Amino acid sequence: MTALIDTLRACVGAPNVLTEGDLGAWEQDWRKRVRGKALAVVRPASTAEVAAVVRACAAAGTSIVPQGGNTGLVVGGVPDASGTQVVLSLQRMHAVREVDRENLTMTVEAGCVLQAVQQAADDAGLLFPLSLAAEGSCTIGGNLSTNAGGTQVLRYGNARELCLGLEVVTASGEVWEGLTGLRKDNTGYDLRQLFIGSEGTLGIITAATLKLYPRPAATLTAWAAVPSVRHAVRLLALAQGRLGSGLTGFEMMGSFALQLVARHYPQQRVPFVEDSPYGVLLENTDHESEAHARAQFESLLEAALEEGCATDAVVAENLAQAHQLWHVRESIPMAQAEEGLNVKHDISVPISRIPAFCEETGALLEKSIPGVRLVNFGHLGDGNLHYNVQAPQGGDAQAFLRANEERINTLVYDQVHRFGGSISAEHGIGELKAAKLPHYKSPVALELMRAVKRALDPDNLLNPGRVLGA
Ligand code: FAD
Repeated sequence: MTALIDTLRACVGAPNVLTEGDLGAWEQDWRKRVRGKALAVVRPASTAEVAAVVRACAAAGTSIVPQGGNTGLVVGGVPDASGTQVVLSLQRMHAVREVDRENLTMTVEAGCVLQAVQQAADDAGLLFPLSLAAEGSCTIGGNLSTNAGGTQVLRYGNARELCLGLEVVTASGEVWEGLTGLRKDNTGYDLRQLFIGSEGTLGIITAATLKLYPRPAATLTAWAAVPSVRHAVRLLALAQGRLGSGLTGFEMMGSFALQLVARHYPQQRVPFVEDSPYGVLLENTDHESEAHARAQFESLLEAALEEGCATDAVVAENLAQAHQLWHVRESIPMAQAEEGLNVKHDISVPISRIPAFCEETGALLEKSIPGVRLVNFGHLGDGNLHYNVQAPQGGDAQAFLRANEERINTLVYDQVHRFGGSISAEHGIGELKAAKLPHYKSPVALELMRAVKRALDPDNLLNPGRVLGA
């Protein structure tokens, strides 16, 4: 292996091949569930260097784990425990190569942090709408490799919908130049779509051409108290009917999730936390004016109160208040972590079936494990819930997880399947859910996926074991 390390040093420069010291930032996953061991962390600075690293690893038969910001939640971007894998970090490839205002596109390198991509678009007077709580650390390469969702999917779609072209280093170390800003191109198979969402198992994304949008004149945020999930779904339909494509965000949060924020971050003001079973955060963007957006929003909320799908509501007066409301929503995962270990799910179900899914699944969980606490929140506008399960109050969370995690996962995923949903809405499969996939994906779909993997990575060198399992 020292011969490979020497070759890698020749490819990217010795300081960019890390083999000693604390490599925890690259070896430990964000949720701290898994700590792997890398043969080396390699940090190329250009596409040519990525290709050279891949060729060197392929020649040595060494597998590669691509990594961006390492914020993934399904153990997909960290090495296994063998000490034989190379982590290929894209973090040094962070240039904005081009912004084309008239074509409404920008081309950026894979290691560009999402917030920097948003900022570059903003500096050009435009909008790149992908937005998620990890945006200060996650990279566009990671976002595309996981087909990230976030808070604007309702209006703009997942990362997949925001990408027009890709540059990819293949498993054999060739470069596929697919950086195009075309919105129409029907010249055969759409290779770009294969790499998006493939979680580093089919190729290494080195750059992407992204869609930009005109920046709206106003963005307003409101919070509504709602009596049940059923009422939240009715409110969604009402908001879609009245605001149309102006409705850019629709997040639902159960009262226990909100109580956790109030308990662990008492400095935050959580609206209606004592009086309402659910809170809904709505975002309305408008290309005319703030006054127009506000009038539209207020009329929607009046109608919601009249029709009984909301019991109270407030529209943020200014940007600071809007940020406070979003901050409450974004604090739920951290508040949950403060409360203790928990079982996380990132599921989707057709929106019309979400009320019945929540009612039935909640009852089944309570019957199976009395006292269990549900942290139910998520992107209701996309049919995506983070349907998480916390140990009963006061119990030993570690022991609870050991005894119940598998049972809870099976119960929830079986329900998701029964309701026509997906066991991973936006986080991907990684290693965490690889063993579950065969239970919920058809044999035909799995065999087609394996065929694609064999065709693009015949020696199984790119992120082996992730998505399709061993
Ligand atoms: P990494 O974690 O480094 O890698 C993720 C996967 O992509 C791995 O399989 C890795 O091998 C592969 N990969 C990374 N870069 C490349 C590349 N250039 N080429 C090929 N493969 C690559 N996700 C959502 O979808 N929606 C959310 O709302 C959301 N909220 C989050 C909030 C928090 C607080 C956190 C910590 C995470 C959240 N996530 C969310 C999950 C995570 O941020 C996303 O999955 C993100 O897209 C990962 O980007 P990354 O650069 O950190 O990728």
